Amino acid sequence: MKSQFEVYLRLKPSNNQSQNSMQYQLYHNKRLQVLLPRNVKLGMINNSRDNLEFNFTHVFDQKSSQDQVFSKVTIPVINSFLDGYNATIFAYGQTGSGKTYTMSGAETWQLRGVIPRALSYIFDEIDKRTKFQYKIYISFMEIYNENAYDLLEKRHLEIPLEQWNKIALFEDDQNNIHLKNLSIHQCNNEQEGIDLLMMGNFIRQVSSTPMNQSSSRSHCIFTATLEGCDTTTDTYFVSKLHLVDLAGSERISKSQVEGNLLNEAKYINLSLTYLEQVIIALNERMKGANRQHIPYRNSLMTTLLKDSLGGNCKTVMIATISSENDNLEESLSTLRFSQRVGQLENEIRRNEKVDLEAVVKRLEQEKLVLIRELEQYQRGGTGNSNNKKQQFQQQILPQSNGMPLNKKQIQEKVELYLNEQVTQLDVQSYEDAQMCFEAMKDLYNTRMKEYVTELTFISEKLQKYDEILTRKKEQSSFLEQKENSSPENEIYKRNESQQINSKQKPNQ
Ligand code: ADP
Ligand code: MG
Repeated sequence: MKSQFEVYLRLKPSNNQSQNSMQYQLYHNKRLQVLLPRNVKLGMINNSRDNLEFNFTHVFDQKSSQDQVFSKVTIPVINSFLDGYNATIFAYGQTGSGKTYTMSGAETWQLRGVIPRALSYIFDEIDKRTKFQYKIYISFMEIYNENAYDLLEKRHLEIPLEQWNKIALFEDDQNNIHLKNLSIHQCNNEQEGIDLLMMGNFIRQVSSTPMNQSSSRSHCIFTATLEGCDTTTDTYFVSKLHLVDLAGSERISKSQVEGNLLNEAKYINLSLTYLEQVIIALNERMKGANRQHIPYRNSLMTTLLKDSLGGNCKTVMIATISSENDNLEESLSTLRFSQRVGQLENEIRRNEKVDLEAVVKRLEQEKLVLIRELEQYQRGGTGNSNNKKQQFQQQILPQSNGMPLNKKQIQEKVELYLNEQVTQLDVQSYEDAQMCFEAMKDLYNTRMKEYVTELTFISEKLQKYDEILTRKKEQSSFLEQKENSSPENEIYKRNESQQINSKQKPNQ
């Protein structure tokens, strides 16, 4: 199934109401027209134009609330995730434009962002989807200077960043990339999820190293992994949801930075440059260019998000821009990038596996119940005489309203007689006797009709069960043979390390 990337834009409220605000027009909350000031030099921008237009799935203006962003952007994504599809939401924009505000939120509960709201929604939905059994696992990492760190490792609260274990990527013999030193936490309810998120954010903020000034220079990936089982079909599925707060996208001028900062700028710029290169390569491939190689492996972030960018994943980008003219150049760069992303599409599929043995077992049990029901019918017992009696009263016996009392009484007597609740039928007159026969005939006809319908239904169902069972048994033995010949055919394997579907070699 094709899934076009969705790109949303969020405008950060202006700090002041001065003329320094960016001038723009918004059409139907989908098209943004930015009016270019005449006197501003805008680098590569063609100055002969006085406006530029950009299209989005939806534009959230300066007044939009956290709840609006959540409902419009996140709910459909999470529903997909709960249905078994991989999904990613990533925020992109210059530092200060509202990425963290959008993804994590501000201090108050009311201003919480996409991630905490997603956690509430996930657990509310799980409670509602009763025919599914779910397990949710959380991990949270930060990529800083081309190194990735676990944000849910409590020990990181006590030791400086230099001593933290870096997350290592390694490839197994089936070409899957695994992450070592990334903890995975099973999470049973919203509160546990929020606690993990808060711990991660806390570890990110308090580490006694350059980290505390660096939040804008690191990428953060919050990942929920779902293992689900549809108990009615014995289908198992696994999906991943990445909620990503990228580093600031600004191009830091080299003359402004030195020392450690220069190092950071180099890495951050590089990884975002590589992200851009990946998007450009994917765009070219979509337009038919012969591009076999997509340079995911140039940076850790693009390696980790390979599936989100060009694989099996429903991907959504939230571009955030400031509303000040001072930031116009950066905003235009974000807007242009988002247009490229918006052209991409991924091929998505549900990561599922049917437990054929369980299906066969369940079908055989259901078949047994049906056979027993059929036998009961053939023996003449309905198995549920009270129910049938009610049906008879509703269908055969006319309501007493407007009916001669003796007719109704006779019909009731006939029913009792046929149900062997009385042994005799007393009749006073020829008319009464005739009415008795009429009532018997009606009752007989209705019951026969019921029997025939029910019998046909059961036989058809049995026939279908036989067909399904035969098919499933064939599939099961086919798979067994196949598995015996290729022992590595294990679809979902999860241990301490997190598995990412990729055939790429890691870049470290
Ligand atoms: P980024 O993560 O992109 O560097 P932040 O999310 O930290 O930017 O936002 C910078 C500041 O602006 C924060 O104080 C944040 O609370 C505020 N802010 C960002 N977006 C909004 C918004 N849409 N509404 C209100 N305040 C916002
Ligand atoms: Mg931030």
